Amino acid sequence: MDWVLVRYLVISDIHANLEALEATLAAAASGYDKVLMLGDLVGYGADPNAVIDRVRELPLAAVIRGNHDKVAAGIESTDGFNFVARAAVTWTATALTPPHLEWLTALPAGPLAIDDAIEICHGTPYDEDVYVFDDMDAFQSIRASTRALCLYGHTHVPAVFRLIDGSAPGDAHRDPSLDLLGPTGGPRFKVQLEEDARFLVNCGAVGQPRDGDPRASYGIVDTTAGLLTISRVEYDIPAAQRKIIAAGLPDILARRLSVGR
Ligand code: ZN
Repeated sequence: MDWVLVRYLVISDIHANLEALEATLAAAASGYDKVLMLGDLVGYGADPNAVIDRVRELPLAAVIRGNHDKVAAGIESTDGFNFVARAAVTWTATALTPPHLEWLTALPAGPLAIDDAIEICHGTPYDEDVYVFDDMDAFQSIRASTRALCLYGHTHVPAVFRLIDGSAPGDAHRDPSLDLLGPTGGPRFKVQLEEDARFLVNCGAVGQPRDGDPRASYGIVDTTAGLLTISRVEYDIPAAQRKIIAAGLPDILARRLSVGR
C-alpha cells in the first residue's frame, strides 16, 4: 500500500454523546496525528452542539456526514426513520444553533478518498445510507471501494473484513477469499494491514455501541507500522443518560447505552 505516514484516529457515530467522545479522546491521547470522522455526530444524544464544537477543535483530516446529520440538517426527510430516531432527530434539529446547523449542512457525503491507500464512507462506498451487515454486503463494499483500506460506520458494530484477492500478482489462480477477522472481544484488537490484502473496517461507534459492549469504540490506523487497532473505553454512561432524560428525549435512548444495544 502506498501510505502517507501518519496515525489516524478513526471515530464514527458519536450521536451527540459528549461523555463518550471525551473518554475516547482522553484514551487516544497523543496516539494520533489526524482525525477521520465517519459521520453521525448528532442524533439520539443530548449534546449535539457541544459534540460539534469538540470535533471541530480536533486536527481533522476529514469529516463526512451520516444519515442522522443529513436529516437533522433538513437535507433529507425523516421518512426512513423509526419513531424513536425521528423523535431524536426532531429534538436535535430544534436544539442545534444556527451556526452548528450551517456547519452540519455543509458536511460532504462519502465516500471520500483520504490518500492513495485509505477511503472513508458512512454506510458503504456505493451508498452512504446502506448498512454492511454480512459477508455479501462486505464483499460488495470492498469491490466498490477505490482504496486498499475502506473505513465505514453506520452499523455501530466493529468489524474487520479482509479480502485476499486471487488476482494479486503471482497468485493468479487463487479465488478471492473474504474473512471476518474480528474484533474478538477484550479492550483492544490489532490487525496487521498486509500489502496483498484489501480491508473493510468498522471501528465501532463512539456514542452508541450496538454489539452488546457498552464501552465507546474507536480505531487508530498507524500507517507508519501498517497497523490497525480497535479499542474500547469506559465512559460516564449515567451522566449521558441523565442528560437524555432531562432533555425529554425517549427513555429508551438512555437505557440502551447501559447494554450497548
Ligand atoms: Zn449512527
